[in-house]
Amino acid sequence: MTIDKLSLFGLFLMLIPERYSTLFDTQNRLPRRHLPLLTEANREFWQSGKTGSLQIARCQTCSTFIHPPSAACRNCHSRDVRAEKVSGKGSISTFTINRHPWENDLTTPFVIAIVTLAEQPGLNLMTNIVNCPIDDVTIGMKVRVIFKNIEDVWLPLFEPDPIN
Ligand SMILES: [Zn+2]
Repeated sequence: MTIDKLSLFGLFLMLIPERYSTLFDTQNRLPRRHLPLLTEANREFWQSGKTGSLQIARCQTCSTFIHPPSAACRNCHSRDVRAEKVSGKGSISTFTINRHPWENDLTTPFVIAIVTLAEQPGLNLMTNIVNCPIDDVTIGMKVRVIFKNIEDVWLPLFEPDPIN
């Protein structure tokens, strides 16, 4: 591989929001997750499950919750942003069912959903709906967060909320 090709490959790795180590993890034969690249701005979100509670970045100036996490508020541009614990409850705004095995050993079908958190209109997370038969998933369904820990990331997934 020439220097130019190596540079381009390095650039490619920097541009995609996932990690070098997981891209080349050939030992893990479980359905592979492409883990997010942890940054100063998003670390508390991706690791909040370690505490058992979902935390979302919130502007300390105008109180707007911000997701995906950002170092600055999208509403008032304040840089006084800190992660705050939220209820972990929300509802499914939309979803789709993936039936295609995009990668070896990917377990299908599964539900990809946009969940709107209870704390704020439009506070949306893209996630998976789990612990629920696929045919029972509906728009508007009340859900609650659970976490799947892989390496140093706690992926927030959602399951039906029995108390709603
Ligand atoms: Zn703000």
